[in-house]
Amino acid sequence: MAAHRAEEPIYVTRPSLPPLEAYAERLETAWSARWLTNRGALHEELEAKLAKRLDAPYLSLFCNGTIALLTALKAADIHDGEIITTPFTFPATVHALHWNGVRPVFADIDPATSNLDPAAVERLITPATRAILAVHVYGQPCDVDAFDSIAKRHGLVVMYDAAHTFGVALRGKPAAAYGDYSVLSFHATKLYTTGEGGALISQSAAQHERIGFLRNFGIANEEEVIGAGINGKMSEFHAALGLLQLETVDQEIASRRAISKRYRELLSGIPGITLHAIGEDVYHNGAYFPIRIDAGLYGLDRNQLYDALKPFNIHTRKYFYPLCSHYPGYCELPSAAPACLPVAERVAEEILCLPIFGSLEMDRVESICTLLRALPKAIA
Ligand SMILES: *Cc1c(COP(=O)(O)O)cnc(C)c1O
Repeated sequence: MAAHRAEEPIYVTRPSLPPLEAYAERLETAWSARWLTNRGALHEELEAKLAKRLDAPYLSLFCNGTIALLTALKAADIHDGEIITTPFTFPATVHALHWNGVRPVFADIDPATSNLDPAAVERLITPATRAILAVHVYGQPCDVDAFDSIAKRHGLVVMYDAAHTFGVALRGKPAAAYGDYSVLSFHATKLYTTGEGGALISQSAAQHERIGFLRNFGIANEEEVIGAGINGKMSEFHAALGLLQLETVDQEIASRRAISKRYRELLSGIPGITLHAIGEDVYHNGAYFPIRIDAGLYGLDRNQLYDALKPFNIHTRKYFYPLCSHYPGYCELPSAAPACLPVAERVAEEILCLPIFGSLEMDRVESICTLLRALPKAIA
């Protein structure tokens, strides 16, 4: 088994980057204009190109996805009441509600996709409910039709945390373009990255204009502030990287899809390992490669497998464990009771995300799979 030990640590992800000289070249515009932020030329170019790429009616760049989420709530004028969301997500999703004075209400998830379950959402709607905030977990789109119809019937806003969806299409349309508001993250761990960065997609020119003001302290012009805005601007340094990344992102997605396919071939049929379902109407981006471990069938539980891979220099991640409903400040909420969230509780105990990134060599993928097959016997 020692033969499987990777020389260099293999982490769950690794950003692909352009040559440093190309980055310096891209920054020339900003340098010569001495224009570093506040809708510089690179920012405007990236905003337009991303709107086109993501088929977004309106897109606003942000300094990160979390501030974009906070601003989405402000744009929708939601600052009290309840929003129904998932416990199976990154902390930012739920914190964005708390920071806007909104009480999160946790609904359970669908065991096949790990996305928010529309039927569970509908059962939790009360007169205090203002919106649904769903997450396209691992880039797998939510049941957008069901959320649309629930929202219409109850007069709610639909927001998506689309942080994982760059390059994903549902029925040929970019997944990030669904919903009243949709938020992307371009953090270093995401498949399309600007280092730190994000975007908020909205549906009308009026909303877009308001988001532009909110992103810049609420400043509408030199003498007018429209409300409590924030500093959510993306700088020219990040936009320059974003423009270069846009040129190679399709290659990155293609490599990840090939790695995903290989993982699927090699891991199917291992007792106790379940692969995540991807819908037939979905073009996936390979942003993550989650597996679920049934300890009874596999022979090791998720935590034992996570620990057992480390000595081989394979560093997986327990996305998303613990559930947001377990954090201090949220765990006291009635909807956070583990008995109310049986699927999420189980998935959080079983989930493990394997390394996936464009430059991960196929023989590494193969040796990770060999390990996954051999470890239960080796340890038993
Ligand atoms: C990364 C991520 C965020 C946060 O985005 P930042 O750009 O890091 O602020 C929000 N939600 C989900 C699901 C994420 O994975």
